[in-house]
Amino acid sequence: MPRLAEIDPDVAKALREEAQRQHRNLELIASENFVSEPVLEALGSVLTNKYAEGYPGRRYYGGCEVVDIVEDIAIARAKELFGAQHANVQPHSGAQANMAVYFTVLKPGDTVLGPNLSHGGHLTAGSPVNYSGKFYTVVPYGVRRDTERIDLDQVRDLAKQHRPKMIIAGGSAFPRAIDFQPFADVAREVGAVLMADIAHPAGLVAAGLHPSPIGLADFVTTTTHKTLRGPRGGMVMCGTPHAQALDKTVMPGVQGGPLMHVIAAKAVAFKEALTPEWRRYQGQVIQNARALAEALMARGYRLVSGGTDTHLMLLDLSGRNITGKDAQEALDRAWITVNKNTVPFETKSPMVTSGVRIGTPAVTTRGMREPEMAQIAALIDQVLANLGSTAIEARVRGEVQELTNRFPLYPERRS
Ligand SMILES: *Cc1c(COP(=O)(O)O)cnc(C)c1O
Repeated sequence: MPRLAEIDPDVAKALREEAQRQHRNLELIASENFVSEPVLEALGSVLTNKYAEGYPGRRYYGGCEVVDIVEDIAIARAKELFGAQHANVQPHSGAQANMAVYFTVLKPGDTVLGPNLSHGGHLTAGSPVNYSGKFYTVVPYGVRRDTERIDLDQVRDLAKQHRPKMIIAGGSAFPRAIDFQPFADVAREVGAVLMADIAHPAGLVAAGLHPSPIGLADFVTTTTHKTLRGPRGGMVMCGTPHAQALDKTVMPGVQGGPLMHVIAAKAVAFKEALTPEWRRYQGQVIQNARALAEALMARGYRLVSGGTDTHLMLLDLSGRNITGKDAQEALDRAWITVNKNTVPFETKSPMVTSGVRIGTPAVTTRGMREPEMAQIAALIDQVLANLGSTAIEARVRGEVQELTNRFPLYPERRS
């Protein structure tokens, strides 16, 4: 059988280079992770060929008897993992999972109370450039200035004032655990639907290391590729009363055929997530985040809210007169991958920002622990304290390469 390298040397070369980059660099983007070889195997399978519009046992196409088994397994494992009554594993992404809930619950123009993007929210919670901001009236809530934790008094006040149809709890850059109970109380008080978006902490939630919204939120959405460490994709969970409406919105409402190879990979990832070893991994993710946060603070860096309860932290560089953009680019040149991020009450544009978001899921998957976190803090400090120094960047690249070589990633793979 002809191999990719012979048929398409250009793409093959790019894949090889990306595999090398992933092995060589220190991956600290909080939303990224490295899936297992079995997950990659399912993703690269013949299931990509199959059209399976509909749901197991109720498909529009013939020949679905085998993929039905796969989707049933994925659903059963998702329900077991999170303790949910119903799971839809078809959303192609987190944004599509959220869209399915919006379309199930709301009519265009309805009011939604959601987290402010610059305080840690996600695009899909009402950004004007996103469907959520275009179709709905979004009222943003934020964090308190003093604690930099979610301002629950503001959530309650805004809910009473605006009477939203839906409230969203969860975001992309909250370093602190979210307690879903007060959100559920406010939602009940004003008659709103509560959607918990656990795209980021889903792995911690599944491992019992972060509060779970199951039983408190009407709908729980997530990605499967962040802390959950599965393939790129989305999922929605809900109680039985909403199940039928949700399934109809996902398909035919917002999607056509499901990505059956991705659903197979989700099933494999959920099986891994049901093991004690995977729970230990999630515990180490949190311990590593604490160790990295403490090491950075010991070096004089300010972290939003003074630390982390989760897998991520937000470095506020405004006091050092460094922008998030310059920090990201300098660290990139030193083979340390992070993303610039707004901080609460941000004064710069989203393309510049005052902060950097740092997460530990990917480096923890490689096997790094507390001693490596102290070393990573020292490397970040060297780059940021000598911003733009090519000599320092070159020295840090050498140390990064030495460090990542000790924790091989996909030793058997070339792409
Ligand atoms: C990542 C994320 C999403 C969207 O996920 P995609 O798969 O990138 O569409 C939605 N909500 C939150 C809170 C996220 O962090």
